[in-house]
Amino acid sequence: MSEISEEMRMTVVESREWYMAAYAPEGVPTSDHLKLRTVKISLALDSIPDQHVVLETLFISLDPYLRSRMTGREDGLYSPQYNLNEVVSAFGVGRVVRSKVSIYGEGDMVISGFIPVAEYCVLPSQALIRKIDADAGILLPEYISTLGVPGFAAWIGIQVVAEPIKPGSNVFISAAAGAVGMYAGQLAKLKGCRVVGSTGSDEKVRLIKEEFGYDDAFNYHTETDYDAALSKYFPNGIDVYLDNVGGEMLEAVLNHVNRHAKIPLCGMISEYNKVWTERKGVRNLLNLVGKEVKMQGFLLGSYLDRFGDFAKEMESHLKERKINSKLKIVHGIDKFLESLGSLFTSSNIGKVVIQVK
Ligand code: NAP
Repeated sequence: MSEISEEMRMTVVESREWYMAAYAPEGVPTSDHLKLRTVKISLALDSIPDQHVVLETLFISLDPYLRSRMTGREDGLYSPQYNLNEVVSAFGVGRVVRSKVSIYGEGDMVISGFIPVAEYCVLPSQALIRKIDADAGILLPEYISTLGVPGFAAWIGIQVVAEPIKPGSNVFISAAAGAVGMYAGQLAKLKGCRVVGSTGSDEKVRLIKEEFGYDDAFNYHTETDYDAALSKYFPNGIDVYLDNVGGEMLEAVLNHVNRHAKIPLCGMISEYNKVWTERKGVRNLLNLVGKEVKMQGFLLGSYLDRFGDFAKEMESHLKERKINSKLKIVHGIDKFLESLGSLFTSSNIGKVVIQVK
């Protein structure tokens, strides 16, 4: 990381930032919706409001929910919409270059859930989650991956919503080679479960078995009869299904659930680019009644009181190498739009993070 130079102390910096030019109700957002512009940010202390910091952005977390903030309507995830003509924000890691907050000093690394997708930004202290201990021996992007949104979502899904999860339970996870899926599968294995995942390429099928300890996996692009695939991979039925994709896979799962199965609904990425009338209907919800299944949506914001327990446990798993993590680091803020679009394809493995510089 570069030191803060004397020249920078005095000056105004140019910062490229992505802003919401128009909402995208359907389809993957394009350059009609998200645009890059350059703004100037003053680093002069007297221009910074009290209780604010100036950050140099280091890493930005690419998460599917960002897309749901760009539709111009509130439904589905009910995410607050980005304001038109304003910079968009995400989870990220930044370095403090100026501070008017007593607990943050120049050079501190911090995490924010509302870091602008920009090279520099001015943020109020309430937008900062915590300071990172740079000597903890944890890579900075891991704070927005294993210890960030996807790790927390996997932990809440498997250890809170699906609880009590018994050793030997048959667990199915979709988008299993994605950020949430890679951690969820490993957490279920640590609980002694038999874990099977679906993912979008043969390479990822191999990877999740070899690196994330999945007992089995299938490529849903080639095994397209999901009902037949689930009969094959779950001869004893499914006890827990962590749903990341929704649609046809969820429908097929409902034909294979065991009595009192749990279905934590983490997300439904197959439906995010559609208006509700175009979304897949799930025809066999009736099975939930006969099998007395608990299906429950969850949002991390409702579980912030569990963040401390989660962070302590995952940090120790990470240090003891009980949890593997795969990061796809994309270099340059200009890659934000295409990287966001790539989340809706099968082209990524693990957690996608933008290294801003
Ligand atoms: P991610 O790493 O970006 O993974 C997304 C993966 O989904 C893609 O790599 C792709 O992998 C798969 N995918 C994309 N389009 C698909 C489609 N049409 N049908 C089936 N699979 C598709 O995402 P993530 O961070 O793991 O998030 C996974 C899910 O968890 C998302 O639904 C997200 O919104 C949700 N989530 C929820 C919370 C919460 O608070 N509830 C928090 C974090 C994430 P393959 O095609 O190779 O499988």
